[in-house]
Amino acid sequence: MSSKSLPFTRAQLEAIAAAVPTPFHIYDEAAIRANARAFYAAFDWVPGGFKNYYAVKALPNPHILDVLKAEGMGGDCSSLAELKLCAAAGLSGESIIFTSNDTPAHEYRAAAELGAIINLDDLSHIGFLETALGGRLPEFLCCRYNPGPLKAGNAIIGKPEEAKYGFTREQLIEGYRLLQQKGVRRFGLHTMVASNELNPAYFVETAQMLFDLAVELHRELGLRLEFINLGGGIGIPYRPEQPRVDLAALGVQIKAAYDATIVAAGLAPIRLAMECGRMVTGPYGYLVSRVIHKKKTYKNYVGLDACMANLMRPGMYGAYHHISVPGRAGSEGGGATLCCDVTGSLCENNDKFAIDREIPEPEVGDLLVIHDTGAHGHSMGFNYNGKLRSAELLWQGTDAQGAPRWRLIRRAETYADHFATLDYPGLTTQ
Ligand SMILES: *Cc1c(COP(=O)(O)O)cnc(C)c1O
Repeated sequence: MSSKSLPFTRAQLEAIAAAVPTPFHIYDEAAIRANARAFYAAFDWVPGGFKNYYAVKALPNPHILDVLKAEGMGGDCSSLAELKLCAAAGLSGESIIFTSNDTPAHEYRAAAELGAIINLDDLSHIGFLETALGGRLPEFLCCRYNPGPLKAGNAIIGKPEEAKYGFTREQLIEGYRLLQQKGVRRFGLHTMVASNELNPAYFVETAQMLFDLAVELHRELGLRLEFINLGGGIGIPYRPEQPRVDLAALGVQIKAAYDATIVAAGLAPIRLAMECGRMVTGPYGYLVSRVIHKKKTYKNYVGLDACMANLMRPGMYGAYHHISVPGRAGSEGGGATLCCDVTGSLCENNDKFAIDREIPEPEVGDLLVIHDTGAHGHSMGFNYNGKLRSAELLWQGTDAQGAPRWRLIRRAETYADHFATLDYPGLTTQ
């Protein structure tokens, strides 16, 4: 049984839980900032600059966007709600990229009004956008490339050939030509072909593929790209034994490809961008819950006050999320362990955070922490069985006396919130 560390102690968590009942998600601000700085340091060599447009869907809380903005990040949005969150957090203009698909006209208009960089998903969207904007295209546009059979894809996002996103290579060349004819003067190139990928070579290959394409676009169309967006998809080690992506080494390898291709072709400076979400906040979020039942039938079960509505990934695609029981030693510390299913209360048998998992044996009433919930945790929440969405907190370390410092960045939903769209007499909201 390997372990993962926690930034807080059981006593500190109990002090927080006395003020904010479990379950809740809590995000470690200092760790998010340190990782953001390491990410930027790895790409500080890029001529013209590097920016990560944080994929807002991973953790759509404006207080988190405040932190990321202060670290130099922009926002990657794929919906109107995400654009509104970025605007509220003071992100605007070219610090937002709008990468959507199957996009409604009013969302394109909202993105254009904010001055966001619009990333087109299809050749037909050029005319669609032009119509949506009353006949005028923005001066800066980006196109999303789908490399199809040239790229293997991976388990979460699937094979590029099967993916609904982006232009084929031929369409891309035709698309940029059309944009040039329509008077667009500034161009970006984008792809997003992996999700939760831990192999750094994958990103180097993707970068090389886009750099080669930049050279080809210049040769064919005389087009000078202003920026190349390598997409997101850098994975995180959900399992304790997995290695994390070495960002510094990744930066060095991408630099070698950039120098050999972009610089050598005389196309520098071309700015580089990414739109990572998961690796920016994922490892720094924790779902804190309490054990409310233990049962033993054909198997052992540990029942929590959290459920799949707080974290959908294990139930939806069998994703591994590590579990700690603060204050219980587990096998490494000579304590008792239990092999069990860790469950929530939904009337769905896939409402399980772990199956046949050996964990430090908890007692009823113990706190239990599920790791790596800072991306696609709260944000994928839902209300099945009338479960209310939890609070979100920001962990800010401890004061000189060791007392926890934290901030509530979203209160928990109430029954009044839950029933707000129903007009029906006698529904109680307490
Ligand atoms: C989800 C998404 C991202 C972010 O992916 P991560 O795996 O969180 O890095 C980036 N770009 C687009 C278009 C996306 O849909």
